[in-house]
Amino acid sequence: MIDGVKTVLVVGAGTMGHGIAEVCAISGYRVILVDVSEKALQKATEKIEWSLKKLEKKAKINANDVMSRIQTSTNLAESAKEADLAIEAVVERTDIKKKIFSTLDENCRDEVILATNTSTIPIGEIASATKRPDRVIGLHFFNPPTLIRLIEIVRGDESSDETVEFARKFSKSIGMDFVVVKDVPGFLVNRINARVFTQAVRLLESGYTAEQIDACVKYRLGMPMGIFEVIDFSGVDVLYNVLRELSNRGFDTTIPGILEKMVSENRLGMKTGEGFYKYSGFYGRAEIPKSRAYDVNPLMIIAPAVNEACWIIRNGVASKEDVEKAMKLGMGYRKGILEIADIYGIDRVAEVLKKFSITPDPLLEEMIAENKTGKKSGEGFFRWSHERKTFGPVEYEKRDTYAIIRMKRVEKLNALNEEMWTGIRDALIHAERDREVKAVLITGEGRAFSAGDDIAVMKSWEGIVDGQEFFEKVAGPLIYTLVEYEKPVISLVNGLAFGGGMELNLLMDVVISGRKARFALPEGLIGAFPPIASSVGFFMNRGITRYCITGEEFDAEEAFRLGLVDIVVDDDQLEIAGIELAESISEVAPLSLKAVKKIKNAVFQICRNSLESAVRELIVLSATEDFKEGMKSFAEKRKPVWRGK
Ligand code: NAD
Repeated sequence: MIDGVKTVLVVGAGTMGHGIAEVCAISGYRVILVDVSEKALQKATEKIEWSLKKLEKKAKINANDVMSRIQTSTNLAESAKEADLAIEAVVERTDIKKKIFSTLDENCRDEVILATNTSTIPIGEIASATKRPDRVIGLHFFNPPTLIRLIEIVRGDESSDETVEFARKFSKSIGMDFVVVKDVPGFLVNRINARVFTQAVRLLESGYTAEQIDACVKYRLGMPMGIFEVIDFSGVDVLYNVLRELSNRGFDTTIPGILEKMVSENRLGMKTGEGFYKYSGFYGRAEIPKSRAYDVNPLMIIAPAVNEACWIIRNGVASKEDVEKAMKLGMGYRKGILEIADIYGIDRVAEVLKKFSITPDPLLEEMIAENKTGKKSGEGFFRWSHERKTFGPVEYEKRDTYAIIRMKRVEKLNALNEEMWTGIRDALIHAERDREVKAVLITGEGRAFSAGDDIAVMKSWEGIVDGQEFFEKVAGPLIYTLVEYEKPVISLVNGLAFGGGMELNLLMDVVISGRKARFALPEGLIGAFPPIASSVGFFMNRGITRYCITGEEFDAEEAFRLGLVDIVVDDDQLEIAGIELAESISEVAPLSLKAVKKIKNAVFQICRNSLESAVRELIVLSATEDFKEGMKSFAEKRKPVWRGK
């Protein structure tokens, strides 16, 4: 409790008023809850009692004590005389609010601060009904205040510094965190929400389903509920009215037609049994299948919200830190909206905005011009630890908690020559030594992941000794580095993955493939043999045998069916899908990760013998006439003639 405040007057005993009253009483304040309706007061009392009984078990509170601090009244003027602070939470109508503030102003002592919980009405407009506009402020709670521990303190044009300071202290005294924001339509959270919600509805109108969008939001963006679940929960009409109100007050938006239609058809969400989803019974929940999570690019959903956050920062409505805090505490985001933008890349956010004909905020443009593109450049909205290095044809990039290793022999389809084998290994070792790096991504530049072993190298082998030396000094060290690696390695198959390029994937922990990627083990067609596929591969999956003995090509879906690929995504989502996974890995306890890898590597050891004999098999083959014929025919682009028996 803060000095000088004993009695808090809460006006309006509806959804918000009863919750605000409860929170204040729990913190020790005496509360007078006022409403025009006796029935509303009675309902509010019952709801508070019910909620306190539930809280009694969790928090150390005595429900009877708390209840004894709450009294109700229908007489605003009389109650106002006793108040040390007034918080108004009546219906969202300017005329009614102004009338209440005028009564409060006449009856509250001069020094008493008057607060409003309005979501859309300017504080200045409400304050104009009083003779103390410097002592009027917004205290914007979220529903339900007992669970969402955030208040947006909205500073009206005339609110004084002392009033803001008082609001800060009071918020703390009732156990709430807060952000101080300027008085613009929608303040902070609702401005960003309005963008997320309207964009989601627009995507729905363009053909995506609510399940697809919500699956992406829940399972990839890490939000606690899908967007359409949230809208259905709070009411389609509520969103429609807020958007209309914001738009009337100059917030630049087009309200999606589907919302008006749903309101006119009484499809208002959970309260009418149908909104974007259908609900059976009061406790019905929407079913959101995880399998749909990759159908939508998450950037399409959040890009307009990032743009709005830029507007908020640029116009001094709130700081970067407060934007993050508000979205995390107010909306349950696992990561702040700006951090999400830094993770995906500021340039990607701008690209997506342009696709939707939305002009990127000048702040975004400025950041891109200064190469502040997020984690990938070491700075975006925030600074991130970053390192770039090259290991021959391999580029290494550390982005805060993960590294990306990129094969870059584009003109040779990233074929694995000696520099490539060694470069990947050196990059992996570099990543292993960096304690901040929790996961490693490997991908290829251009249209291939890797076309496999460089035939030119194999062709130059003169006999068994050359082949043996190659495995001992070049390929083997990478293979065994991967088999013994202590950090998770995720491969992003961006295109063709043939031969050795395909086989490397068998040693990775997670394989994400672009939809257009193609796989093949064509070694047999040139007189060689795929040693990893024929050992580790057989151990993992018998289905791979067919492709080892035919050399046939197969696509990403088939690779997924065989269990060789874990996730198939549209090609433009490949990198972000990998980044999301690396980010989630970064949140897992490092020792647990190490343990998983240790055990997985131990499992690899089971096939170590067969891997070694497979390598020997290839070395022996490399000295045969058939191998030479294979290499020659490949170079001459003709069909080989096999003589071996
Ligand atoms: P509500 O309809 O649930 O409750 C409003 C209450 O005000 C009713 O009990 C009504 O009887 C009472 N009332 C009406 N006229 C009155 C008067 N002249 N004097 C005293 N009481 C009167 O509304 P709500 O959802 O609790 O919203 C209240 C305020 O909080 C609005 O300004 C709204 O924008 C804001 N708000 C709502 C939410 C939310 O999620 N519901 C969240 C944040 C802010």
